[in-house]
Amino acid sequence: EVVIKTRKLTKEYVRDEFHVVALRDADIEIHRGEFVALMGPSGSGKSTLLHLAAAMDRPTSGEIEVLGSKLNTLSDGDIARWRNRHVGFVFQSFNLIPVLTALENVELPLKLTHLKKAERLAHATTALKLVGLGDRLGHYPRQLSGGQEQRVAIARAIVTDPDILLCDEPTGNLDSKSASEVLSLLSTLNKEHGKTIVMVTHDPHAAHYASKVRYIDKGELLTEGTMPEDWKSI
Ligand code: ADP
Ligand code: ADP
Repeated sequence: EVVIKTRKLTKEYVRDEFHVVALRDADIEIHRGEFVALMGPSGSGKSTLLHLAAAMDRPTSGEIEVLGSKLNTLSDGDIARWRNRHVGFVFQSFNLIPVLTALENVELPLKLTHLKKAERLAHATTALKLVGLGDRLGHYPRQLSGGQEQRVAIARAIVTDPDILLCDEPTGNLDSKSASEVLSLLSTLNKEHGKTIVMVTHDPHAAHYASKVRYIDKGELLTEGTMPEDWKSI
């Protein structure tokens, strides 16, 4: 089953009259259960592709279908609800809300659902236990290590039980030990919880956790099995 499918997906940014083609005619199919690492030089369009898949941005042209929904056709109003339910997004810099505890941060996405407070807290607690932070529910982000903050962010991303996890350099701000913990966690979510994962990374070590690596170079998604000639990291 193909869960992410794009056709001639193109994103062009216009800034001060300069046009930047961040992504050009990208065709990709990602199947349920895959753990795909998206690699390529800085500025090659990796984040752009991830943002389009999360409906955080709209394409200039081309098509993108995620879990059977043609994202181009969703109204702005439907998009937030769609995203909340179907994809979890993990950021390089965690993006936790500093004045909320770990439990409150993880509860947030559930506030867009019909669940009652007690149910929301039960689900958020379960998600935090799953990422190994059942003993940190009342901690604020500043009281946690970077690796713990990222695991809270992952709990927040999975609390609505989405099929797809999109991770943008999830280990980019972590020391190598915390990075390995986060990658093991993503691997568990993929293998044991059936999450389809697309992870942007610069880190060859991180890419080894993936079942497939796809490269982007200068806005162009390379054919499967190929990488940029000057890309020596792996
Ligand atoms: P990567 O994730 O591979 O580093 P990005 O997808 O972030 O690459 O960016 C691809 C290109 O698009 C870059 O040239 C970048 O400068 C440009 N770009 C990204 N976001 C914007 C934006 N909001 N406005 C203008 N240009 C952007
Ligand atoms: P880990 O072994 O999970 O990477 P650390 O060794 O960095 O975690 O931290 C050990 C404990 O110290 C953590 O459980 C965390 O609660 C606490 N801690 C870590 N960093 C900070 C910090 N900057 N401020 C307050 N507490 C911290």
